[in-house]
Amino acid sequence: MLSFWEQDAMLAADLIVIGGGLIGLQTALEYRSRRPHESIKVLERGLLPSGASSRNAGFACFGSLTEIIHDIDAIGLDATLLLVQRRREGLARMRRRLGDDAIAYEHAGGFELLTDAGLAALERLDEVNRALHPLFGAEVFSVDDAGLKASGFGPRARVLIRNPFEGQLHAGKMMRALAKLAGEQCIEIHTGIDVGGLEPGHGTVHVRTRSGMAFEAARVAICTNALAADLLPDSGIAPGRGQVLLTEPVPGLPWRGAHHIDQGFYYFRNVGDRVLLGGGRHLDFAGEATGELVTTAAIQSALERLLHEVILPGRNACITHRWAGIMGFSTGKQPIVRRIGQGMVLGFGCNGMGVALGADIAAETAGLLLQ
Ligand SMILES: Cc1cc2nc3c(=O)[nH]c(=O)nc-3n(C[C@H](O)[C@H](O)[C@H](O)COP(=O)(O)OP(=O)(O)OC[C@H]3O[C@@H](n4cnc5c(N)ncnc54)[C@H](O)[C@@H]3O)c2cc1C
Repeated sequence: MLSFWEQDAMLAADLIVIGGGLIGLQTALEYRSRRPHESIKVLERGLLPSGASSRNAGFACFGSLTEIIHDIDAIGLDATLLLVQRRREGLARMRRRLGDDAIAYEHAGGFELLTDAGLAALERLDEVNRALHPLFGAEVFSVDDAGLKASGFGPRARVLIRNPFEGQLHAGKMMRALAKLAGEQCIEIHTGIDVGGLEPGHGTVHVRTRSGMAFEAARVAICTNALAADLLPDSGIAPGRGQVLLTEPVPGLPWRGAHHIDQGFYYFRNVGDRVLLGGGRHLDFAGEATGELVTTAAIQSALERLLHEVILPGRNACITHRWAGIMGFSTGKQPIVRRIGQGMVLGFGCNGMGVALGADIAAETAGLLLQ
């Protein structure tokens, strides 16, 4: 039972954001910059963010060569270029907002290992570079023979492609910096609040929690990513689990930077001298279409094989951490920022690449809330 004080002063706000991931927190910050005197609450189901934002690989990336080729073929050149542009602007916006030190941003470059199956991408390298030139003013992808030679990667890595515009960051520090900034800007973050339903009223949206509490606000942003369908069954967003492992420090690790393999279905990077490796969802799409935050033996073994055969052949690095996070996927890889009822806006956009894109989606979500 709630006290009079709680009911009188702690349940209402001008804006409620549901979901405390990187889009939810940045939506709250974007709204604050437009409405300095309104009250803003973020309701997050976990005690820490419990979706993707603090469980990802920290790639600040725009798309590898094979992924961009795939996207051009699937959604067309214009839509692909727009996504690349939005990721680039989103990353710049977040770096300006938080500062590179606070998020441990390293401009170490982005890379892609082509195996036999990916070599056909080389035939379209010039076409993709020409298409991206107006956005970057320079050649984005080039073959890095010297880098491949120095890397020590196994023989399945036939070609290394380098992209000098990408970087990597520390996902935990990014979320900590966002939460700190939110606190400084009088945005209240309430954790352990699992929202179970939304009811629009006259100028007010009632936000009901699964534990039976009722908050209310004039405006509500739904930034629950993969779990959006729990609140909005027609959202068109489905969950896809991502699994990761991390090794102990590897003395003399010969490469740095954010690497992709197989259109980004596998990805690895250095974290200091450790190797973080994730992916493998394509090995069991049906089994990984889940919101359950657990790792599985089958995907973890596939990651270990890749680690030992391709990334660190002949080295015996122990695995110290394993975890899972949940991504959200929409059809056609398109962001969804949409009014879904009076005062309510859905802000979703990441399709597994939110670190760069998230700030841009958040700005659009906040803008739509105020229209
Ligand atoms: C393993 C993995 C690796 C990844 N690697 C990268 C990468 O290297 N680079 C990159 O750009 N992107 C990466 N991503 C994707 C990126 O992390 C996401 O695109 C981004 O974090 C999405 O942010 P979000 O705020 O939309 O969602 P989330 O971070 O998922 O936030 C949604 C929040 O809503 C909360 N929530 C859900 N339902 C409710 C409810 N009913 N009530 C209250 N709260 C609720 C959840 O607990 C969650 O904290 C990766 C994702 C995973 C899982």
